[in-house]
Amino acid sequence: MSYTGACACGQVTLAIAGEPVATRQCWCRQCRRMAGGGPANNAMFQTDDVALDGEVASYSYVAASGNTLTQFFCPGCGTPIYAQSSARPQFRTIRFGALDEPHGLKPQMAIWTDDAPDWGQIDPALEQFAQQPPPPPNPN
Ligand SMILES: [Zn+2]
Ligand SMILES: [Zn+2]
Repeated sequence: MSYTGACACGQVTLAIAGEPVATRQCWCRQCRRMAGGGPANNAMFQTDDVALDGEVASYSYVAASGNTLTQFFCPGCGTPIYAQSSARPQFRTIRFGALDEPHGLKPQMAIWTDDAPDWGQIDPALEQFAQQPPPPPNPN
């Protein structure tokens, strides 16, 4: 299976080989800033599996986990495309919103639920972590 994707304006496109190593719904404050208030839904793929076409802009910050996160987004329309953690350069965390539908992916877990707002609806069927979950296993 492989995945394709694009930003809202179409300047950035994605082609992904392989399956994600993890899918997550993140309620941390920084993700909610970028996602318009609700959680960010992400799929972590192996960096080597992700091909990107088009210029992306980025900024970095120290996340609540203590790792430096770099967020990559389309400079034309602002769509968040992916994030990369200093602790795990072997993975790229792709936003569900940037993937073409239907992609068939769902979050496997909800993380940083401590930061969820009162009105946040967290699916009770999801595995939940109050803060940072353990890292995904290396697939190779
Ligand atoms: Zn764009
Ligand atoms: Zn987050």
